[in-house]
Amino acid sequence: MNFVVQLSYLLAAVLFILGLKAMSSPKTARKGIMWAGVGMILATLVTFLHPAVQGVTNYILIVIAIAGAGGLAWWSGRRVGMTEMPQMVALYNGMGGGAAAAIAGVEMLRALRTLPNDLQVRAEGLAMDADISVQAAEAALRAEGAGSVGIAAALGADVAILAILGAFIGTVAFSGSLIAWAKLDGRMKRSQLVPGQQIVNIIVFALAVGFGILTFFTDSVAVVAIFFALGLLFGLFVAVPIGGADMPVIISLFNALTGLAVGFEGYAIGNPAMIIAGTVVGAAGTLLTQLMAKAMNRPITNVLFAGWGSTEGAASEGPEGEMKDISAEDAGIMMAYSERVIIVPGYGMAVAQAQHKIWEFVELLQDRGVEVKFAIHPVAGRMPGHMNVLLAEAGVPYDMIFDMEDINEEFATTDVAVVIGANDVVNPAARDDPSSPIYGMPILNVDEAENVMVIKRGRGAGFSGVENHLFFGDNTRMVFGDGQKVAGGMVQAVKGL
Ligand code: NDP
Repeated sequence: MNFVVQLSYLLAAVLFILGLKAMSSPKTARKGIMWAGVGMILATLVTFLHPAVQGVTNYILIVIAIAGAGGLAWWSGRRVGMTEMPQMVALYNGMGGGAAAAIAGVEMLRALRTLPNDLQVRAEGLAMDADISVQAAEAALRAEGAGSVGIAAALGADVAILAILGAFIGTVAFSGSLIAWAKLDGRMKRSQLVPGQQIVNIIVFALAVGFGILTFFTDSVAVVAIFFALGLLFGLFVAVPIGGADMPVIISLFNALTGLAVGFEGYAIGNPAMIIAGTVVGAAGTLLTQLMAKAMNRPITNVLFAGWGSTEGAASEGPEGEMKDISAEDAGIMMAYSERVIIVPGYGMAVAQAQHKIWEFVELLQDRGVEVKFAIHPVAGRMPGHMNVLLAEAGVPYDMIFDMEDINEEFATTDVAVVIGANDVVNPAARDDPSSPIYGMPILNVDEAENVMVIKRGRGAGFSGVENHLFFGDNTRMVFGDGQKVAGGMVQAVKGL
């Protein structure tokens, strides 16, 4: 039976890996999600149906937990809007980290429960052998260090180390992801830095490391509880100061941490499916974090300890000059008579669900011989690949979609750059203003185009809260309105030509 269980875990792991591979392209992503989902169901069923292998006995609680959590996920997954996906992903990611930490907690408490028994059995043996009282024997054993090797003695050194590491990483990912969820959901201000935050972060981290080491040796529940609390606190302190434009790095970092925590706890409880799934997620998340950090031009250490992106509003002095607006119809006609157009989508396109209308407009332009390309910034929208998913959904061919580094030089030779619902990713302050909180982040150089059309509803700032001087440029025209309505107006105008 054990062979069948292990084989099923292996199959589940293969499905996770194949699923993840397929998710790397929008063409095969749906298939990938299905495979990974089937792998997850298989792993869960095997664990549930053969509990003897895992030492599981409490069926009723398990069924209630699976039915309750599964039902909640099904219900919330069906009603979540496309623009609420990022916060939902952050929430689920936090749950993964929390679950891994909970597994560690259960293992440690179980170890602590068996420790006194273990000591007592040995003390009774010694008392009989040496003909002394049990209390005296226990005291002698403690003096020899028997009571001071705590959790490590009960779990074994390797399992204890991984359980402790997984607990810390999991608690950090849990509380940090909840803050990320609150920020993405607009329930919390984007960046809240208290004075001396960096020092506080370093102190909490050092304390957590100290209590992690103590946990290895302890037989005290209080030490374990403080260790977990410090992990939760560190996650909060890491995420709270992160400002707008830097959120993508921290979100992918928490994603990587959750994977690692699951992998470590998989080792602690001897579950190969968890080890493989956790390692795969950890590796993919680490690569994504590196990509995001590179895209934002920031070192990871700054995320953990320095709270960059926290000087929100520092460079928000209003620019001189006026925004000049233009109607959707005039903007559409101008583009219809252009030779080269580049479209830059951002989060507002997702809010407006304007991708279908934009693609209809682009097809009309192409019929007139206009060369059109899409330029995607790596952190446009609210989750990695957000814009690619929307454009793929609308049917935009992949060969029309270009990454920032591949298209940035072309803006200078472009007639019209159309910015739809993007803001931070085209903000020249990131390039030109050293005092700006987003300074150093590479941007799409739309301001170099001959004409810039910006489609947005009003004067609202982007996610980072930083004022955008692009909107006041001589070559910029604002097309005020909801993205879908404006795109509809442009379509009508070109059809009427
Ligand atoms: P921004 O959030 O900077 O700007 C979006 C703009 O869209 C706003 O200025 C808003 O202006 C406009 N908008 C909103 N609704 C509509 C609508 N219905 N129609 C038209 N326009 C609309 O978006 P970007 O994509 O430029 O930048 C992404 C930001 O999100 C970056 O700061 C990034 O760091 C952050 N982020 C990215 C993540 C990722 O993984 N990609 C994750 C977390 C954060 P107005 O209100 O005036 O309409």
